[in-house]
Amino acid sequence: MRELPGPLRLLGPRARRWVRRVADLVLAPVSSVAGGRVPGEVAVTFDDGPEPAVTPALLGVLAHHRVTCTFFLLVNQAEQHPELVRAIVAAGHEVALHGLDHRPLPPLGHRGALRYLREARRRLEAVTGRPVHWYRPPYGKQSAASWAAARRAGLDVVVWSADAADWEDVEVADVVALAHERLVDGGILLLHERVEPGPAGEPVETRFDRVEVVDQVLADLRDRGLRPVTVGALARRAHRTAWFR
Ligand SMILES: [Zn+2]
Repeated sequence: MRELPGPLRLLGPRARRWVRRVADLVLAPVSSVAGGRVPGEVAVTFDDGPEPAVTPALLGVLAHHRVTCTFFLLVNQAEQHPELVRAIVAAGHEVALHGLDHRPLPPLGHRGALRYLREARRRLEAVTGRPVHWYRPPYGKQSAASWAAARRAGLDVVVWSADAADWEDVEVADVVALAHERLVDGGILLLHERVEPGPAGEPVETRFDRVEVVDQVLADLRDRGLRPVTVGALARRAHRTAWFR
């Protein structure tokens, strides 16, 4: 429950935490992996790739820092650049699904979303040669029907706890500072290899160096004693939340 209904905003922070906790408990059977509450570990994730201008250098930086991460790939990008996907897998990273393309699933209804996700999973597994378990909804948009479709398609939904807003045209230091501020123990950090247009179709243009961001974020995590692991390694103990928006 990231966004509380209007009247609940009037509650104090402690009461709000309590309401959230009860809501997460009640809604646990329909929850998504959101990170949190795992001391010393975080998951760093990359959306919308692969991207020829970024992925190879990104893999170099991850190898330099000796960390493994999770890549939420778009199938149409993956099929255009299968060699990049193979390089991601060969380096020991986890590959997950972000969609065939970047469309939100709620407008498709349950059956449409199920058909879409089954095809997307099958095609991504054909490129990776291994099972795909995780799905992250574009823009985090999810309905009860699309959540149920993901589960029926054999996928578990992963959202995030820390958005570094790396889709804004800012400086490297701004993204690194947001990641520092928002990512805490057990958190899932949302970063991008490339960025699809925004929810209203508006183009996104950024000029900062995405690889430099990752280099600095990983150095910061090392200084803070936070070890990056894959979503799969974090998920068993990670916090789950009912996430519908
Ligand atoms: Zn995305």
